[in-house]
Amino acid sequence: MISEKMLALGKKSSAIREIFEYGKKRKAEIGAENVFDFSLGNPSVPSPPVVNETIKKLIEEEDPVLLHGYTSAPGDMETRSAVAAYLREVYGTDDTAENIYMTVGAAASLTVTLGALVCEGDEVIVLAPYFPEYRVFAENAGAKLCEVPCRAGDFQVDAEALRAAVNEHTKAVIINSPNNPTGVVFSEESIKAMAALLSEKEKEYNHPIYIISDEPYRELVYGGVKAPYTANYYNNTVSCYSFSKSLSLPGERIGYICVSKKCEDWRELFFAVCGAGRALGFVCAPSLMQKIVPACLGKTADTSIYDRNRKLLYSELTSYGYECVAPDGAFYMFVKAFCEDAAEFCEAAKKHELLLVPSDSFGVAGYVRISYCVTTEQIERALPAFRALAEDFGKI
Ligand code: PLP
Repeated sequence: MISEKMLALGKKSSAIREIFEYGKKRKAEIGAENVFDFSLGNPSVPSPPVVNETIKKLIEEEDPVLLHGYTSAPGDMETRSAVAAYLREVYGTDDTAENIYMTVGAAASLTVTLGALVCEGDEVIVLAPYFPEYRVFAENAGAKLCEVPCRAGDFQVDAEALRAAVNEHTKAVIINSPNNPTGVVFSEESIKAMAALLSEKEKEYNHPIYIISDEPYRELVYGGVKAPYTANYYNNTVSCYSFSKSLSLPGERIGYICVSKKCEDWRELFFAVCGAGRALGFVCAPSLMQKIVPACLGKTADTSIYDRNRKLLYSELTSYGYECVAPDGAFYMFVKAFCEDAAEFCEAAKKHELLLVPSDSFGVAGYVRISYCVTTEQIERALPAFRALAEDFGKI
């Protein structure tokens, strides 16, 4: 007898992964240059030089036993202090090493945070469209997942829809800005409205309602837009950060949890994070990766390439009749399908060797996600295929 729940999860890969695997097969059949794969959020821009320089320096200069040995379970003290100093400097917070927990990317940050918060009977709200793994993480922590749609038209937070969903069982709301899959950055107005509503509901139900702020795209913003730092707007915030996207290091698995010191009983909550990390086996994040963090804080891969891709794709696709909210961040565009069924639309796109992800697994029908963290050359070569797809549906 094995776990039916885990068996089902393991057998069924995510819609994104399925398309990615199809793409690999197709590329082997007709050549990689003939397949326009926009399925995965795998950064295409190399890490900034400071990453490899710091790795080399550490390998050459540090005691290898210490360098590759275990750190403390919540992370190396110097690294946690550096992260806290960075957050104090950039966002004016009062963080110290004591409220920072190093993890293996945003996925672990989220599962550990949910593990620390969720009790029997709790509900966790997600704002649709949302990163599909939230369901897996929240349900595995024992929560019931409740989807609340974002505002139609601009995909900002719909405070009234949120009001209707929050109830005495609500433990947390997961938010993600800049957003995967829409590319939208939640405005200060959106965050303030959500914070005011949740504070009101905390008083009404007499218990904390947390915001879990999933922030792997925090620095990927364009055109002068800034992503408001949620912990500065709402006390009971736990920030889940990852260096996967900002430093183009998704395979190295490094990130952190910041339990805001403004959280009610933050020390207790931090202990619960340590406990969940222990129970889930996410202790002592990769030592070498932790040790590069102090030198890399605030640095990013060359995001001007994503910005160039964003502008090119947005202007061309809208000129062919595609509808889409102009994305201000991350590296995704969420485009309305030309027919009701997004999966059917993706099949039609495949005929032009365009690999797009249908929106259904993001909790919304009728859209496709285009991941533009690809080479600009791929986008240029794919434009005739996007045009032909629009022609198929009579848009041109
Ligand atoms: N959250 C969001 C919104 C993401 O898009 C991703 C990855 O694509 C993750 C979390 C997981 O990130 P990581 O690779 O750091 O675990």
